[in-house]
Amino acid sequence: MKTSIQIENKLISKPSRLGFKYHIKTFGCQMNEHDSEKIAGIFNNDGMSKSDDIDSADILFVNTCTIRENADDKLYGTLGHLKKWKDQSPDRRIIVGGCAAQKDKELVRDRAPWVDVVIGTHNTNDVINLLNQSEDWGPITQIIEESKDIESEILPVRESGFSAFVTIQIGCNNSCTFCIVPSVRGIEISRRPSDIINEIKNLSNEGIKEITLLGQNVNSYGRDLMIDNKRSPYFTQLLYKIHEIDGIERIRFTSPHPKDFKKETLVAVSELPKIANQIHIPVQSGSDKILSSMHRGYNQKKYLSKIDMIKNIIPDVSLSSDVIVGFPGEDDQDFKETMKVVNYAEFDLIYMFKFSPRPGTVAADYNNQFVEKQVIDSRFMTLKEKQIEISDIRYKRFVGTTQKMLVEKPSKKDKNILTGRIEGGHIVHLESNQDIIGNLVDVNIHDSSPFFLKATL
Ligand code: SF4
Repeated sequence: MKTSIQIENKLISKPSRLGFKYHIKTFGCQMNEHDSEKIAGIFNNDGMSKSDDIDSADILFVNTCTIRENADDKLYGTLGHLKKWKDQSPDRRIIVGGCAAQKDKELVRDRAPWVDVVIGTHNTNDVINLLNQSEDWGPITQIIEESKDIESEILPVRESGFSAFVTIQIGCNNSCTFCIVPSVRGIEISRRPSDIINEIKNLSNEGIKEITLLGQNVNSYGRDLMIDNKRSPYFTQLLYKIHEIDGIERIRFTSPHPKDFKKETLVAVSELPKIANQIHIPVQSGSDKILSSMHRGYNQKKYLSKIDMIKNIIPDVSLSSDVIVGFPGEDDQDFKETMKVVNYAEFDLIYMFKFSPRPGTVAADYNNQFVEKQVIDSRFMTLKEKQIEISDIRYKRFVGTTQKMLVEKPSKKDKNILTGRIEGGHIVHLESNQDIIGNLVDVNIHDSSPFFLKATL
């Protein structure tokens, strides 16, 4: 087994890579997308420039994920293909980072020895030093188990000029048995409110109109900080402070945990016009038995009481959720309980996952309770069909109304269609040949489907 090598930053002095090009492949969630923006900032700071075309790039960063189905197989399959890319030029370098690198450590280079640097989730700021070290002494793995500092002096390079992710917290203190996040991202660490506010003010000055606050468990934000002489969640207060920032017109957040939802946060969402009336509230299962086995910290009754509270305080709310179908031990009755929640909550959207064991998670060891694939497939289809029915009804409520849409980009299929989102997060296809990308405009919704809305100006 190879060992990690740690070398003080001050020992490294290499010229910058002015003129080099880098390409980043990102797998997984919004947190990973934003991490890739930070890595782009570090590379730019070293003199490199971004290339959307991998074949023009000298440096490739693969930002990995362990959450999605068959993530491990996909990663090692991808690294296999990348060997050919690297062999085409002796100057090409491959760096693997993100959650899979943090989880697999030296295993990444054991399975893909052509990888130059394996770097964990807690030390991405060291990526240039590690790249330099690998050029001097050969491939290197450096994984540390805890974040040293959530702040970076280097600004991320954001993909959009009008919409931005802002990290408010990293890590998670929960222990959901299906999830690898606590072991690869560590315990919750909140950024100082003043750092967050300053970042958002700067974004506003740069023309950003919409921000999405990111954290694994945003509504427990601030529990680890001493603010106003106490240690308690500070998320609601943070929302009020961010709302005061001029120029920011829409504020979203993801993901909150159902057990940590407070009434005061919902009141803030309803009172503050810039906070989108969209709540993502991941249920995962409707069965008390399965929720307990997942270590989710709530039962069906408590979850539904949160749904009632949300709808009472924000009557026009758009709800979305995550559901895992076929968690170990799930029987027909457990699945019926999930369907009961889905019917009751009337989510606008559900992100559905078929359970598959993630190595390193507790649930991966529940192998004597795994549910048969055909049963999972059939339940998944039942859930999908029901949700399409519900989404169809939910999306129809917008037809004949005027909504504010942030116009994001042209449609890939039709240059006369622009796509974007309304406040509730619903995708809109807007008929327009005007260049209004990046603007928040009033649009008239004239048609709907279970997946998107159609609008004109
Ligand atoms: S709350 Fe649960 S699912 Fe979410 S990141 Fe933490 S452990 Fe994972």
